Amino acid sequence: MASTSRCAIFAASGISDRRAPGEGRQPFSLEWPSDPDDASGGARTPIALSAETGITAAQRHQFNIDFHRDLARLQTWAAKWHWPCPDVPEFRVVVSDRFKISKSLVPAWSGDAGRMEFPAWRVAARKAAIAHELVHVLFPNGNRLLAEGLAVHLQAELGGNPAFPNFGRPLHQLARERLHAMAGLGHRCLADLDSIATPAPLTLKVGDDFYGEEPRGQTHIYPIAGSFVRFLIETHGLDAFRDLYSRTPLISLQHNAGAPERWTGAYGMPLADLEMQWMSVIVRDDSAAHATLPNLNREHGHA
Ligand SMILES: [Zn+2]
Repeated sequence: MASTSRCAIFAASGISDRRAPGEGRQPFSLEWPSDPDDASGGARTPIALSAETGITAAQRHQFNIDFHRDLARLQTWAAKWHWPCPDVPEFRVVVSDRFKISKSLVPAWSGDAGRMEFPAWRVAARKAAIAHELVHVLFPNGNRLLAEGLAVHLQAELGGNPAFPNFGRPLHQLARERLHAMAGLGHRCLADLDSIATPAPLTLKVGDDFYGEEPRGQTHIYPIAGSFVRFLIETHGLDAFRDLYSRTPLISLQHNAGAPERWTGAYGMPLADLEMQWMSVIVRDDSAAHATLPNLNREHGHA
């Protein structure tokens, strides 16, 4: 548990300050907010905020509340399900206009665990994927599909605000739409995604189409990763998923996506069989089928 963790929110230097001159120029501390949903009994860590960001004082305050609420929820989740939760020595959160996407897994792989980057406009809109990025810090993985799938699933399950890639929409529904748009339901893509080791991005080639790091690619691939992990946990339980997850730990500066055989070790069946089960579930799950799609270019923004 992270009960002794120190939290600090910085801003990068050289960022324009849109607030009134002199307002909030000095770092200051806020009380750890109370949250009726926090059953962890965990930390009450003061959080130091720098004022030099492109967000207002009210937006910083809200981000502070959201950050600690999601941290407490993830710690509670880990304790409930006996999920290993390291004592992160320090959260170094940077909110900046410089960032186009959120990021924390790649810094962890580089040896900078605890560094979390959020675009200022995401924080201002209260759409920052806080729980997602906290999952990367608390539960990183060497397999990029599993790392992103768990992060997307827990952001949707526990995150206090809608965020990339589904922004509150049901994950299975969105995955079905994306898969249909990419290649048609029934197309097998998980073996290719499962071969990608952190820190390489989740990319996919489907026929002549390439879904890369650009907004179109990521808004298609991330719902698929999140939906599949949600299916694994909901259908086969957390024990098997924890077993699978533990087989590809994140080791700084190493590349290890894991061998295909590990799926049979954890689930008693190969990935291809689990993929078929998952597709049958998301095809059946047609709730809210008439909801509108988010704008693909606007809603990109995460790694
Ligand atoms: Zn991520």
